[in-house]
Amino acid sequence: MKIPFNKPFFAGNEMAYIKKAVSLGKISGNGIFTSKCHKFFKDTYGFNNCLITSSCTDALEMAAILCRVQPGDEVIAPAYSFVSTVNAFVLRGARIVFADSKKDHPNIDTGMVESLITKKTKVIIVIHYAGIACDMDPIMEIAKTHNLLVVEDAAQAIDSYYKNRPLGSIGNFGTFSFHETKNIISGEGGMLVVNDNENMGRAEVIWEKGTNRVAFSKGHVNKYQWVDVGSSFLPSEITAAFLFAQLEHLKEIQNKRQMIWRFYFGALSPLEKKGIIKLPLVHDYATNNYHIFYITCESKKVRDDLLTFLNGRGIYAVFHYLSLNESPFFQSQGNQSPILPNAKVFESCLLRLPLYVDLTGEEQEYIVDCVNAYFSEA
Ligand SMILES: *Cc1c(COP(=O)(O)O)cnc(C)c1O
Repeated sequence: MKIPFNKPFFAGNEMAYIKKAVSLGKISGNGIFTSKCHKFFKDTYGFNNCLITSSCTDALEMAAILCRVQPGDEVIAPAYSFVSTVNAFVLRGARIVFADSKKDHPNIDTGMVESLITKKTKVIIVIHYAGIACDMDPIMEIAKTHNLLVVEDAAQAIDSYYKNRPLGSIGNFGTFSFHETKNIISGEGGMLVVNDNENMGRAEVIWEKGTNRVAFSKGHVNKYQWVDVGSSFLPSEITAAFLFAQLEHLKEIQNKRQMIWRFYFGALSPLEKKGIIKLPLVHDYATNNYHIFYITCESKKVRDDLLTFLNGRGIYAVFHYLSLNESPFFQSQGNQSPILPNAKVFESCLLRLPLYVDLTGEEQEYIVDCVNAYFSEA
């Protein structure tokens, strides 16, 4: 058996909607399918101000511009994350100050954040790892006290909640990804959610290359011109058409992922009870959107051996992030790498199992059997 880590799921209408976009004669950005996607997010999650983008990386770059980050500003971010999360702010000249993960979860250690604040701090970025919410109340409280902005990197967090509030709607800005490896996909794709109404006008300008073209197309101005910095952050209608076909099947996609996630959790809990592995934790304040199923092994050696064992049996399980504070780029900038023991544990011991809609029951059982076989041989 050969089981890839991920297989993109096609909901069914992607090609039909792309054809429709082509036949309408408008395939550049901000057309009918873009509006349909925006309406879906507004109706489903109350995202009143959202803009789909070509990637979550783009949405993060927009957020960094909207935060008016200047050279020398400090931005607090978790070390256990993806490069784009912080790269977007480094492009504006920010200095990144890394925080550790929690002991029991890869998410940012909320308790550590306040100790990292200086006079130069401008933004706190959080990542909802595996689509499981960070503890947002204390983060928002700290931000309010110190007059800081909060960006939620919700790349993995579509359809997930913190105390009944959709992720991406709590900080000043939320960013999502529709990359092929996420729950809802458009090849490359993303979205920016703007939670302060007064920032939306500027967001539309940044989205459209620094022009007021959006206002022009709404008939609010009679010509469009260069009014601010910006870039080409909007996706084509071909991407939006694909994305809309996926969104129409969001419930079905989530239900199937839930079944697989729960199967793994139930089938592997005897190993956790014996103290051999740890299963993912979902705090009381968070929901699960079944984006990732990961286990935490007791050491790097066990994790690496298990990976080799599974790969040898055709199962493409994978590890995840390398702590950004120890990255060649961060170190080459003359930064002192702080010691962040929890991020190190997740870097060394976390292993992700294949999780995608078309993963069959037989394949799921084979994967669990192989994990059990490894630990009974070990
Ligand atoms: C996937 C991901 C990104 C990048 O998303 P793209 O759409 O590929 O740019 C950023 N941050 C996190 C936490 C991610 O998981």
